[in-house]
Amino acid sequence: MNHEVKKAASNGAHRVIYHAHTTNVIALTFVLPLKDEVFTRELWEMATECPVVFPSGIGVVGWMVPGGRDIAVATSELMKQYDVAIWAHHGMFCSGEDFDLTFGLMHTVEKSAEILVKMLSMRPNKLQTITPQNFRDLAVDFKVTLPEKFLYEK
Ligand SMILES: [Zn+2]
Repeated sequence: MNHEVKKAASNGAHRVIYHAHTTNVIALTFVLPLKDEVFTRELWEMATECPVVFPSGIGVVGWMVPGGRDIAVATSELMKQYDVAIWAHHGMFCSGEDFDLTFGLMHTVEKSAEILVKMLSMRPNKLQTITPQNFRDLAVDFKVTLPEKFLYEK
């Protein structure tokens, strides 16, 4: 179902759907609210490359029984707008044009999650971070569109 959605959304360019049980992303699904806006923003903040690598953001599916139609429908609905979907307490799906790009996308998200896990292990809040205006400035120079729904004030 993801292949069907991403093929249509990319005019046939996306040919790979990659699923993996990514340790740090899974860990975060126990402590962050299961919202697209929260996961996208927190993972964007952990490394400057992140909003450039996944500018459209990340979708999050709450825990569901895997392998059946219901979770496929929920995931593919998110994949209409995102190239990354997280399954709470399970793992991640990424979509891309070839395996190298798709693996790189997943690796970037998982690496960012590892940084967030380490940061949260040191202290519960940040002393400084990348601000919404920093993201807007980055978007201009790197010619990416960052949806404003992710650039909320905290
Ligand atoms: Zn799995």
